[in-house]
Order: sequence, then structure tokens, then C-alpha cells
Amino acid sequence: MSEVIRLLPDNIANQIAAGEVIQRPASVVKELIENAVDAGANNIELHIKDAGKTSIQIIDDGKGMSEMDAKMSFERHATSKITSAADLFTLTTKGFRGEALASIAAIAHVDMDTIELGAQLGTKIQIAGSKITSQEPSSRPKGTSISVKNLFFNVPARRNFLKSDNVETKHIIEEFNRIALTHPEIGFIFSHNGNVIHNLEGAGLRKRIVDLFGRNFNNKLVPIEEETDIVKVKGFIGKPEFSRKTRGEQYFFVNNRYFKDSYFNHAVVAGYDNLIPPKHHPSYFIYLEVPSQSLDVNVHPTKTEVKFEDGRSIYSIIRSAVKLALGKYNIAPILDFEHQSQFDLSLEQQNSPIRQPEIQVDTSFNPFKSSSSSGASVEKSNFGGNSSSSKNFGSSGSFGNSNAFNSIKPNKEEWEDFYKISEEAEEEITQAPKEIKFEEPLKSSSNKIQLHKNLLLIQVKSGAMLVHINRANERVLYDELMERFMLSPIAAQQLMFPYEYNLLSTQKLEWENNTSTLKRLGFDWDWQNNTLVLSSIPSMLEVEYVTQCLDGIVEKITHEELDKGELVHELILSLSAAATNHRSKSLSEEEMNYLIDRLFQSEQHQYSPSGKRILNTISIDELNNYLS
Ligand code: ADP
Ligand code: MG
Repeated sequence: MSEVIRLLPDNIANQIAAGEVIQRPASVVKELIENAVDAGANNIELHIKDAGKTSIQIIDDGKGMSEMDAKMSFERHATSKITSAADLFTLTTKGFRGEALASIAAIAHVDMDTIELGAQLGTKIQIAGSKITSQEPSSRPKGTSISVKNLFFNVPARRNFLKSDNVETKHIIEEFNRIALTHPEIGFIFSHNGNVIHNLEGAGLRKRIVDLFGRNFNNKLVPIEEETDIVKVKGFIGKPEFSRKTRGEQYFFVNNRYFKDSYFNHAVVAGYDNLIPPKHHPSYFIYLEVPSQSLDVNVHPTKTEVKFEDGRSIYSIIRSAVKLALGKYNIAPILDFEHQSQFDLSLEQQNSPIRQPEIQVDTSFNPFKSSSSSGASVEKSNFGGNSSSSKNFGSSGSFGNSNAFNSIKPNKEEWEDFYKISEEAEEEITQAPKEIKFEEPLKSSSNKIQLHKNLLLIQVKSGAMLVHINRANERVLYDELMERFMLSPIAAQQLMFPYEYNLLSTQKLEWENNTSTLKRLGFDWDWQNNTLVLSSIPSMLEVEYVTQCLDGIVEKITHEELDKGELVHELILSLSAAATNHRSKSLSEEEMNYLIDRLFQSEQHQYSPSGKRILNTISIDELNNYLS
């Protein structure tokens, strides 16, 4: 009988192993950047062509390799990082399996150019299908450059399996972000088809986050910090009002390694308590440090899952750290609210003589707080009722005036899709459980008093109603803009002096992708490199709030996977928020009446388009009890 069992030749074994480690261009990017980090690089460049399908090049200024090591590095299980199994538990490097380079060399054409620190001459090697095809000395000054070309050239099934350039690029950006966030101290350059996407200088974490995701992130972050024997927690979490329907930037790291963990994600969300509406996701960048013996990073070949010895305790520590961070920085909207009412005095008010108040109101009593009044149950049922419509529309949790869609037809083909979505949303809204309606305030006859600029106290039949003026304005403007936008472009105002706003190159690309929508909103502009030079802005927007508005818009166009209809909704939301946010002024009686009338024409008069409560009632009983 002849033998049937054979050892596989190395190159086939490597090809099979490669399937585990290298699934797509992004896996190559991850492995090679990690090697550069392990080599102690201070600066790393990533250049990709055609989403990495044509070529991926990583250049570092790390310690490099000797000629022998350069050749050895492509052997399977060739690693300089561990020598015994025990080392697995005290790892400080990213790699340790010695599989990456061998796997990549089995399925691509690889050029390596490297020089060992202090050596005179470096080494250039070419490899294809696991075989060295050429070797020569090199005169590079420092570090290592590795180019990976024609990925999966000899595994057509894999190559055909790759997704569109767009999707593969997104995977690469995600890997890049994870490493850039793990190592803010390292400088990175990232280019795609010759266009620089990121040029990040080594920095602290906060700056790194802002450089990666846009400067509007700067005022969204709250530091988080907790130290226990089991785990140290550091990093930043996003303020609740910036939570979104789509999962945004959610990053966990442990001992300087990115990982995914839905259990800990739950801990974070639980820490926000009910500060974020259901189905909204906060951003977070949370760095854990645990003793390396209590961590197993070896459970998954691509190593984004890790096992913790004491997961349950870490869960509670994360949750309370989040809670604490939010509490410490007075993030709850209710506190914002108090802040405004206490300190936001207009010049006019500051200068006027102090008058005896006509009624006494305790400013610490806040009916918007959900636990005390009937508002709590209303709030719940309202969010619940809206959640069915929420999948069509972004973060508001309450889609706007459906009246706007009854009477009008869009006159431009390009908005047809949007209209379709709106109709679907409307259907869902009508199917949603009926909202509990508030009693409408008695119109002109009812007493209205403006309190602390931002609140309106109105006498209603059953007691008193408190209305948040900015949010009411935001709702009215949002409904109006949504309706107008579908019919015709929003009126623009020409600026006497052009307004400049800097964008990252990725943001510039997205801005240009959305040119027609942004022009329809009333913006017009030229470019100076990556700087947007605005010559016109929407007419209702005051120049001093342009930055706020653009911050919101840029975030929406760059970071959400929104379809056109959702994007329009989000952009109008940013615009109405920026146009009304600071508008508190003394209102005349006519203005108060007008605002309330307009507000109650909206089907969604209880919530602002960004999901905040606009009004609440206090019953006569509650008012009386309050004094008893
Ligand atoms: P691992 O990272 O798991 O050790 P790799 O296959 O990724 O395995 O790399 C093999 C070895 O090649 C590494 O252990 C390291 O010694 C060397 N190496 C790879 N890339 C670099 C680099 N950019 N600079 C210096 N040495 C490198
Ligand atoms: Mg490696």
C-alpha cells in the first residue's frame, strides 16, 4: 500500500494560514503598522492604492532588521518577540505569532527595504509566493519600508471575494484609526491614491481624537478616570447630547490593544443611564489597564477579542466610572438648563435697575426632571412610540411635522428619494401609538411670563406649563425648513466678508460629495486648499453661529452612514440648532403668542428635533403640594 499522508509544502501551508490572518487589505495594514510600532517607530507612513488592492506601503523609522533577520522574518513562526510560552502572559508587543509576514508573503508580491539601527548597509528583498526572488544591499537611512502589491494574486477566490474599493477603504481607515488612537504619541501619515487623508503629529490623546475625527470633537469629550486594583480606566466619553442613532466612535483598548466587547459596551451605555434616548449610541474612547496575567489576548487570530479574568467587576467599574464622569462635568441636560437660567443675563438685564419680582419662583424646581411628575411616563411612551419611525431618521428620536408632507410635492426629481423616505416615515408615525397630548395653552387670554430668558411659564386650565424657548424655536424652525427645503432651495444671504472654515482632507472630500445638498441649504463657497471660504450662508443663520453650524454639518457628512433623506434631516437639524440656540431675548407678548401658536401646529411639539423636551405641565395639585 502506498502512503497517502504527506506534509504540505511550506508555501501551501502558508497560503492556508494566510486565510486566517489576512482576510482583506485592512488586515495587511493592521499587521504591518503593528510591526512598525513594535519596532519602536516614532513616525509611520501608510500609502495605499486602490483601497490596498493594488498596493499597500508602510514606512517606519524603527529599529529595522539585519540582513539575516530580514530573510528570517518571512518564515512561519519567525518572531523576535517571544521565546517561551510563558512570555505569552507578559506581552508588551502587538505581534507575537510570527505569522503575519509569512502569510502576506504567501499571497502577495512583497518588497522589503530595511536597515538595522547603527548598520552601514541595509537589505532589499523581493518575495512572491513565499520565495525570495531578489536580494540586494540598500542605502536607506533608517527603519523599514514594506510594500505589498497585488494582494491575493495567487488566490483568485479571495481576490474576487473582496468588496468595493469604498468598503475596503473603510476597513483600512478603521484599522488605521484604532492604531492611531492606541498610539497618539506616534506621528502618522496616511494617503490613498496620492491624496493625503491624515497627517497626524505625535500628540496627547485629546488632540489625536480631534485630529482624527474633527475639531468639533473637542467640546464633546468628557474625561473619564478610575483606578482600582483590578483595572485602571482612562480616556474620554462623549457628552450625552452628541449620542447618535448610528454607532459612532466606540473604542475600547486594553493594555494598549484595541478590542471589541459588547458586554463592556453595555456597561458604558448603562453608565449613561437615561441621559441618552433609547437606541442612541454614545461615543467613547476608553483605555483599560489590567495586570497582564489577568488577560488572554490569544483567543482570536485577528486578536480583537480578549478574555478578562474578572470581567464582571470590570463591568461595574466601567459603568460607575462613566456615571461619575458625567456627573462630575455636569453633563445632565437638566444642569445645563439651570446654568443657563442662572447666568445667562443679557446686557440689557444686567444694566436695568433691580425690580421686585412679581412672582416668586423656585429655580431649583425643575419639572423637566422626569422622576417627579407625570412627565416621566409621558417621556417614555413618547420615545417608545417614536422608535418605530426612528430607523429612517437620525438622532432626533422624533421626526418632525408630518403636516409638512401632506400638502406638498417636491418639484425636483433629485429629491424624490427623500420624499419617498418621508412618506414611509409618515406612515410609521401614523401607525405609532397615539401620544398623550398636552392641554394646549389658552391662547391670547392666558398669562405668559418669560423667566430667565429661556423659559416661558404659561397658565393653563389644569395648572401651569413651562416651555423651553430655545427648543420651541428650534422645533418651529426645523419644521419650517424641512417643508421649505423640499420645495426650493433655502434662502441664502451673501456675506460681505468671506467666512473661512478649515476642513481635514477627508472632510473636504465628503463636503464635495454633498455639494448639491449643501448649496440647497444656502451655502456657497470656494476653496483655498482645505479651507472652505464661504461667500453665502443660510439666511436665518447669524454669522457668529456659522462655526457651530458647520461643526454639526461636517460631523454628519463625515461620520454617519446616512442615506440622503437621513442626511437632509440631520443637516437641517444642525442648521436649526445653530440658528436658534442663542436666540434668547426678551419676547414681546405677540412674540410669545406667535411662538406658542406655531409650536402647537407641530405634531411634535413636545420634543425638539434633537430629542430634548420642550414643555411640561405642572398640575394645580402639584403646585399646591409644593407649598405645603
Ligand atoms: P510577529 O510580529 O508576530 O513577531 P511578524 O510576521 O509580523 O511576526 O514579524 C516577524 C518578525 O519580523 C518580527 O518579530 C520582527 O522581529 C520582524 N519585523 C517585522 N516587521 C518589522 C519592522 N517594521 N521593523 C523591524 N522588525 C520587523
Ligand atoms: Mg507582527
